[in-house]
Amino acid sequence: MTYFIDVIVPIPLQKLFTYRITEAEATFLQKGMRVSVPFGKTKMHTGIVHRIHNEGPTAYEAKDIHQILDETPLVTEIQLKFWEWISSYYMCTMGDVMRAALPNAFILESETMLTKTNVKLDETRLKDDEFLVYEALHHQSSLKVQDVMQILDKKSVLPVIKRLIEKEAVAVEEEVFEKYKPKLVRYVKLSAHFSSEVRLQELLGDLSRAPKQRDVVMTLFSMAAKTQKPVKVSELIAESGASTSIIKALIDKTVLEDYVIQTDRIHYTGGANAASKTLNVHQEQALSEIRTTFETQHTTLLHGVTSSGKTEIYVKLIETVLETGRQVLYLLPEIALTTQLVSRLQNYFGEKVALYHSKYSSHERVEVWNNVLQNTAKAQVILGARSSVFLPFKALGLIIVDEEHEQSFKQFDPAPRYHARDAAIVLAHMHGAKTLLGSATPSLESAFNAQQKRYGLVSLKQRHNNVLMPDIELVDIKDKYKRKLMRGHFSDRLLEEMAVTLEEGHQIILFQNRRGFSPIIECNTCGHATQCPNCDVSLTYHQYRKQLRCHYCSYHTAMHKQCEACGSPELDNKGFGTEQIEEEVKVVFPKHKVARMDLDTTRGKYGYEKIITAFEQQEVDILVGTQMLTKGLDFRNVKLVGVMNADTMLNFPDFRAHERSFQLITQVSGRAGRTDTRGKVLVQTYNPYHNILQQVASNAYGAMYKEQMDDRFNYKYPPVYKQIKITLKHKDYNRVEQASLWLAKSLRQVFKEHVLGPESPAVARIRNQFYKNILIKIPKDQSLAKTKKAIIRINNSFSSIKEFRSVRILLNVDNY
Ligand code: ADP
Ligand code: ZN
Ligand code: ZN
Repeated sequence: MTYFIDVIVPIPLQKLFTYRITEAEATFLQKGMRVSVPFGKTKMHTGIVHRIHNEGPTAYEAKDIHQILDETPLVTEIQLKFWEWISSYYMCTMGDVMRAALPNAFILESETMLTKTNVKLDETRLKDDEFLVYEALHHQSSLKVQDVMQILDKKSVLPVIKRLIEKEAVAVEEEVFEKYKPKLVRYVKLSAHFSSEVRLQELLGDLSRAPKQRDVVMTLFSMAAKTQKPVKVSELIAESGASTSIIKALIDKTVLEDYVIQTDRIHYTGGANAASKTLNVHQEQALSEIRTTFETQHTTLLHGVTSSGKTEIYVKLIETVLETGRQVLYLLPEIALTTQLVSRLQNYFGEKVALYHSKYSSHERVEVWNNVLQNTAKAQVILGARSSVFLPFKALGLIIVDEEHEQSFKQFDPAPRYHARDAAIVLAHMHGAKTLLGSATPSLESAFNAQQKRYGLVSLKQRHNNVLMPDIELVDIKDKYKRKLMRGHFSDRLLEEMAVTLEEGHQIILFQNRRGFSPIIECNTCGHATQCPNCDVSLTYHQYRKQLRCHYCSYHTAMHKQCEACGSPELDNKGFGTEQIEEEVKVVFPKHKVARMDLDTTRGKYGYEKIITAFEQQEVDILVGTQMLTKGLDFRNVKLVGVMNADTMLNFPDFRAHERSFQLITQVSGRAGRTDTRGKVLVQTYNPYHNILQQVASNAYGAMYKEQMDDRFNYKYPPVYKQIKITLKHKDYNRVEQASLWLAKSLRQVFKEHVLGPESPAVARIRNQFYKNILIKIPKDQSLAKTKKAIIRINNSFSSIKEFRSVRILLNVDNY
């Protein structure tokens, strides 16, 4: 009998590859284990075993695998099922899903770059082959896995590399700029030699002339006896009051031995678990309704106004699930939020809380992965951004999707272009778990699903402590400009309220939906604005670095002194960003501290943390920021929120612009007055009679929902219709134009009037590639599966046309 396995490799291939294995390997291997496999003439990939069988491929001769990399499956059966769902629903390959799902350190391949870490290493701990690789990295800054094959003169090098990674002698490429610092804690114990009572007494006798050393030994002895746990060097120093040199002397005499334990980096050092809060009557009511809906529904939407205490309700639900020994996944739209939430949850659940997101290094992600897979005590509540739906849950009981309306749950690039909220619901289903979606401003699709009774619906209308909803005032800046009542971008009303708020010792948030100083610099004489050489957009001015930058491709150049086109020195700022607001505030309120939170100021791993903490601790009086500010942050002392300009959001060319504006402004308003006194919100706009602004001001979610749904219905938009976007790109404009016309025509033969385009997007060229979009609308009664099949069929004929072969096609299901 010949044995074969189908292997998922992390590259976009339509089909899985089949390899031959021996009978012994067949008995050992299980689905979900990793194998390293040859690919092409020289390449090597790490793959995941998907199926073990006896059917050799007919189209090609199966190669042998290099070797097996795991002793137990790294990926669970449920995960493989989940990957299949993602791949089929979002029209991407299993390889795409694998790449998104696994931490990089798990998928070494011949092209993976290895580098030396900065960790000080005891070289004697390395085996011979490990040392050869380590040594080579002293002469060369990086090595590819295939170089390692040459150095060791064999193909099966991954186990060696795996051990080197575990010993932290080498790192995979991505970690280089993470500046990853391992946390090595030094412990100390009495040498084994003194473990008997007799020898210990002898030792104490010998040390009678060195009383300080004797003290240390006695202290260590009693500490170890008391706690039965390893004693840290730092603890011993603190407890005994001895200096480090005394401890060193004892170590040198081999009375004491020091050693290190690799502690988990994601380490919680807080106090004991606090009891969760007693819910108020409204929360109590909502909680019991949620439990009731869960009896009949898989998914429930909790629509609770800002500061109604949704988080405390989640905590109660989490407690119940943990009692049954099952895991909880708590999804957040962005890590900006985790800083606050992590400490809130750790207060209740201590070490059981683990974090997972893309700013973590591979090492840290590997740690969390393994903890989740083994369902250890440290991985009971996983708090994470969208990619955490890919963790290897063993026994998932509940998924919470907080701020479910947030767009950042959707991955746009690269494939899989999945929506983490929707994927989470499917994942929960596979585990027999429940999903709770929470928001103060639910997405129309979730509200629609609830209205259609596909989800349970629970509403919470009171803020905790019965604090009033903030008082929202619309300020007509057209009128203010006319009457010369504007100072920079600030109306007299906003400045008045700011002065009062600061006077009373409260804090202020100013929201501006743009980063950078001033998006565009235009010549006053000829109207020229500097364009990016690679993309069809104007460059954005960043004052801090005195640079013009492209937000699409990161191209940048020094700010010009004169117009490039006509030489005029009169260059003017059009539009304004967070940086400019910050500048203006500093001038008006020079005595107060201003900070800014946007993509530019939060780059580092702890970027958010620093700003949020400074604001929480009231070191900062005024915080200027973008979107990031709107996401569920809980500040106690904010009394005033200013929305600098509501119109840019409202006028954004997207069918969701109105829904999004309602959500954004309501959410940012929700940061005001969360504790006792009522907050105040000023929304500056040219259009105070705009329906959306009126609805925001009167907190009328229902009216907004109804009006927007009418539009969606009339114009055939989601959630009434489904949507798939097809994007074509190529460096030659004519090629992409022809290809898109051909594709649209073929699609029209099947889908008729439900095909829109091809159209050039607003930014038609990015990184020197021209783009075309085609949109397919799918009525509710049309089978999604059949639609996708037809698209794939047409796609295949497309790729068989020679001139079109080099045109890249991207499929985006639910592209909104
Ligand atoms: P939401 O997530 O709905 O915006 P939060 O859960 O952040 O609201 O709650 C708002 C504030 O009220 C938080 O500071 C929270 O600690 C507090 N809070 C909510 N519920 C209670 C409760 N039952 N007892 C005490 N404080 C509460
Ligand atoms: Zn000019
Ligand atoms: Zn560019």
